[in-house]
Amino acid sequence: MTGYQIARLPLTAAQSGIWLSQRLDPTNPIFNIAEYIEIHGEIDPALFESVLRRTVAEAETLRIRIVEEDGSASQIVQEHHDWDLDLLDVSGEDDPRASAEEWMRAEARRPVDPTNGPLFAFALFKAADDRWFWYQRYHHIVMDGLGLSLIGGRVAVLYTALAAEQPCPEPTFGSLRELIEDEAAYRASERFVRDRAYWTARFADLPAASSLADRQPSLPRYLERRTASLDEGVLDGLRATAREADVSWPAVAVAALAAYLHRMTGNRDVVLGLPVVARGAMATRTIPGMMSNVLPFRLDVRPGTTVRELVRQASKELHLALKHQRYRFEDLRRDLELSGDEHRLAGPHINIVMVDYDLRFAGHRTTVHNLGGGPVDDLSLVVDGRAGSGQGQGSGLKIDLDANPDLYRSEEIAAHQRRFLDLLGSMVRAGLDEPVGGLELLRPPERERVLVEWNATERPVPSVTLPELFEAQAARTPLATAVVFEGRELSYAELNARANRLAHLLIERGAGPETVVALSVPRSDAVIVALLAVLKSGAAYLPVDPGYPAERTGFMLDDARPALVLTVAGTTVTESGATCLLLDDPGTAELLAAQPATNPSDADRTTPLRLQHPAYVIYTSGSTGRPKGVVVSQASAVDLASWAAEAIGPRQLRRVLASTSLNFDVSVFEIFGPLCCGGGIEVVRDLLALTERAGDGWSGSLISAVPSAIAQVLAHGEVKASAETVVLAGEALSAHAVADIRAALPGCRIANIYGPTEATVYATAWYGDGAGPDDDRTPPIGRPVSNTRVYVLDSALRPVPVGVTGELYIAGEGLARGYLGRAGLTGERFVADPYGGVVGGRMYRTGDVVRWRGDGNLEYLGRADEQVKIRGFRIELGEIEAVLAGCPGVRRVAVVVREDQPGVKRLVAYVVGDTPVDV
Ligand code: AMP
Ligand code: MG
Repeated sequence: MTGYQIARLPLTAAQSGIWLSQRLDPTNPIFNIAEYIEIHGEIDPALFESVLRRTVAEAETLRIRIVEEDGSASQIVQEHHDWDLDLLDVSGEDDPRASAEEWMRAEARRPVDPTNGPLFAFALFKAADDRWFWYQRYHHIVMDGLGLSLIGGRVAVLYTALAAEQPCPEPTFGSLRELIEDEAAYRASERFVRDRAYWTARFADLPAASSLADRQPSLPRYLERRTASLDEGVLDGLRATAREADVSWPAVAVAALAAYLHRMTGNRDVVLGLPVVARGAMATRTIPGMMSNVLPFRLDVRPGTTVRELVRQASKELHLALKHQRYRFEDLRRDLELSGDEHRLAGPHINIVMVDYDLRFAGHRTTVHNLGGGPVDDLSLVVDGRAGSGQGQGSGLKIDLDANPDLYRSEEIAAHQRRFLDLLGSMVRAGLDEPVGGLELLRPPERERVLVEWNATERPVPSVTLPELFEAQAARTPLATAVVFEGRELSYAELNARANRLAHLLIERGAGPETVVALSVPRSDAVIVALLAVLKSGAAYLPVDPGYPAERTGFMLDDARPALVLTVAGTTVTESGATCLLLDDPGTAELLAAQPATNPSDADRTTPLRLQHPAYVIYTSGSTGRPKGVVVSQASAVDLASWAAEAIGPRQLRRVLASTSLNFDVSVFEIFGPLCCGGGIEVVRDLLALTERAGDGWSGSLISAVPSAIAQVLAHGEVKASAETVVLAGEALSAHAVADIRAALPGCRIANIYGPTEATVYATAWYGDGAGPDDDRTPPIGRPVSNTRVYVLDSALRPVPVGVTGELYIAGEGLARGYLGRAGLTGERFVADPYGGVVGGRMYRTGDVVRWRGDGNLEYLGRADEQVKIRGFRIELGEIEAVLAGCPGVRRVAVVVREDQPGVKRLVAYVVGDTPVDV
């Protein structure tokens, strides 16, 4: 089958790299490189075939195969291989090009075994009498981009000469041995040492490869391609920008890709991959073979970097990189002690094809169509500067985007390409002084979608206060069960009457609108009575967990200055010096008995209760280290309760487990969701109380919990709980947590709900009903809830496109009034909303990093700051000890925060006391 061996040579370093990768994945066809040359004129197939055979005879690399002995590979050059030229006539097809390309793609996706030649394939298609396609495919181990152009050029020259019956032009290819010896000489040279010093210094701090994907790549089997061409105007702009900045146009293209990555990821240290020819002596540039290299190419891009600075930087870096281009990336990885795939050096490739390719076959013009340039694990932007003699000068620049289909879906590839071209367009239009951060990334339709369409959440909300909303329900269903605690039940009528008596007493004691009444009562039905009573008095309630350390309690009372503290004997608040009303005191019982059981009205209150008056003040930490009171209005609380009745529904709210401490605003949902639509709540000390149940366990309709707490309950094993809905909020929800819950509570509806206290409990929601195809993906946090708008913005407060990381801002009815007594801090976090269309409208800056999915759901990624959530507490890393020190049983705390993506911090594990928790 094959001819005899005429030489045995070592592999070039580039060949060795490919050999190692292919050997790990022997049937992977990704190492095939292919193109076809379209010939605009008539071709003589017999003559063409003889030219190809002559070319193969001249090019040693086309006659090699790889052998491996004793763990070391070499290449054997043979006298000849048997091969056939495929001749195909597609001229009768409806679309000759499409059917030819289909055949070519299929051919190029066939695995090729490097130990078995030939390592190339040729085909000739007749598309019409005067239009032919010459297809070439090579295993990358025998051919690089330069080699491809040498072969193409030689075939054109031979064909032209022989067609004109002229003598055969002298062979021009050098021998493979020269290429290998040249490389060996380089590796022993001073230059090699200098190049190594350059690269190891440039990458000493091991920057991470940039990527637009959210997963680690692995080698794909093929790349998905999107082709576009740059329109004339942008191309002229590109050239003009280059001229004005005194750089070459490729520098502008590289700068644009770096700017795109920076804008899409927020990354300031952008590392691309730059494929280069990497040949040495001039003579070696006439030898087809595989020598090419991919350089890691690093640029520093900040929002304030101007286009001029960026293209100049790109130009300078290009110059340096090209100067040191022979130093191989495999060697650099070894120098930097990087092994395996876990640390990639280069992100997306930018492949600028600049070879002059004005090929003519017997005078016929040609157009080159690249079909794939070898392995890329992320994506590759192929900028084809070869005009092709078939298209004439100035016919545009082809820009292909080749992407790893394991990392990017087709829509994503299309969106990246479109947006990259938009950015390139706005970059060349904006001029050299424009900062990169100022370039427009969003087209008007996408802007409209993310700002308006996905935020169309307006719903009517009753214009009543929270106590009125409850009272109306109590009037509708007086006999229905409102509260259950340890087997004791209170009907709506009983609950309302008890709360009314206490409310009248509180009003007597000075409680009313714009005052605060603290509540430090152990969890029971009495705490619900007390909470309603405070609201009915017109005051805002301030929950103070009786389990809190005296220091935190003291701070909250000092800061909020409540008119009164409702508590029981023996709590720490009784020693705080604040005016207390002891609910378990016999004297109080007497006073209450004397109060009317009717609903207090504005006539009873100190001043009329209005919707903007505070309903509650909940302390939370955050960006400052010291806890601050979030003041939430009646209107916002009513909006939340109305959302619950509509979005979760009275059926799901008919029996709700109220397990969350009043200090967390989830309790507002647990209590007022059901109580404003006829449902009942069962008060328990905490979620773990479920694990102590005997018999059939708990069988209500809805449980709400933080993911880590429900995991703890489920891990307990013997939990006999059934619930139709599990609402998870407060922490990031993982796919495996969802799977665990589904396994434990089959058929339940899972809701992942997100929201900071500053936006009244919940701002976005996602509902997972039953198992779906996306089950292994992290569940999103969903879409904005009613009367809520969400914006994903960059650092200049501009909306980012779908898929792009940004900070979440919230606007709408749920916005808190602000932080109690902290106007400055309120102004910092609640800023002017430029997108709401309302003068004076505000939005809350959450500090959460998210991105839009294409379907309008938000994905939660992490925090922009140092805040973590531990046991439901929002804590700054620096204040963890202080906050948790007082928690019972907690002696030590350790926290692991990871920053996989720059600017996105995420808690991955923590230890409280002796309990390690994976998040
Ligand atoms: P809090 O004000 O105590 O409700 O805490 C609000 C913070 O908790 C948010 O800013 C997020 O960082 C985090 N958070 C709340 N809900 C979720 C959720 N469903 N997924 C991820 N993080 C969440
Ligand atoms: Mg919340």
